[in-house]
Amino acid sequence: MNSTAPPAALSLDLDNQWTYLRSHGRQAWKEYPSYLNLAVPRILEFFRARKMAITFFIVGRDADQDAHREVLAQIANDGHEAGNHTYGHEPDFNILGPGRIAEEIARAEIAIERATGQCPAGFRGPAYKLSQAALEILQKRGYRYDATTFPTYLTPLAGAYQRFTSSPAARDGARRGSLFDGLRDGARPLAPYRWELAEGSLLEVPVTTMPVLRLPIHLTYLNFLAGFSTRLARSYFLFALRLCRATGVGPSLLLHATDFLGCDDVSGLGFLPGMKRQSVEKIELLDKIIADYRRFFTVLPLGQFAAAVESAGGLPLVTPRFTPAGPRGGKP
Ligand SMILES: [Zn+2]
Repeated sequence: MNSTAPPAALSLDLDNQWTYLRSHGRQAWKEYPSYLNLAVPRILEFFRARKMAITFFIVGRDADQDAHREVLAQIANDGHEAGNHTYGHEPDFNILGPGRIAEEIARAEIAIERATGQCPAGFRGPAYKLSQAALEILQKRGYRYDATTFPTYLTPLAGAYQRFTSSPAARDGARRGSLFDGLRDGARPLAPYRWELAEGSLLEVPVTTMPVLRLPIHLTYLNFLAGFSTRLARSYFLFALRLCRATGVGPSLLLHATDFLGCDDVSGLGFLPGMKRQSVEKIELLDKIIADYRRFFTVLPLGQFAAAVESAGGLPLVTPRFTPAGPRGGKP
């Protein structure tokens, strides 16, 4: 590692098999199928071999399952940071009422602390979903940072296309105006800043997207590109890192458990980008990408990156703007 290189963050959302089945409308999610006991040891081995620590955003419901206790405890034993990824990974998290949001955050905290021995200081909402109520609750509960925002235009456009081409029932169920909400989210700052809240402020560390172009650079997207050519995926990532260095953006790179899993490990997730590839190919790509990342930056868990960003100072204050502002009628 180049220790004089500027700091950057690395985190992994420990989204389980059931969260993907749920977001793609597969009824099998209700049985909560899990691949954590396969994925987590493999992920931990990868980082142990490279003497690296990162942040794992853990779903509280998974932390509450006895079957996961051993592997989740090992995350903390290996020196990684445990972050809060809500209790139920609710697809409508951003439009839940403040009481439900508080429950999603607090209940996850208890479960994650019991499983790992760490009380989370960082938060990431499910599927990049965030609201002002969530920020206020995180600030009051003493969180150091939120890491939910994902400033890209590609996801809302892809989502609108998916809804346009989906069944009439799914299309009718889609929230009107969500494309415009998504485009507004895409215009948020790329570099860390502080949310200005009623009773203080809270550090935001966005999931980094390509400076200027605002295209995703996380591993799911790189695996999608690697489906065409590994060289293309790597050149694209290196171009993004050079742009980050040139524009002074300390990046926060996002991984998922599925970046370590292939079609040889899990069936039924072929609808996800990169899940038709073999695990060995995906880990080879990860090996190269993480090595590239460490040549450009000093890679830290998000909590340590947040401390570095705060001590550098000069963070702009940003007023939260989210729509809808409150809970929607008829929703839990
Ligand atoms: Zn997630």
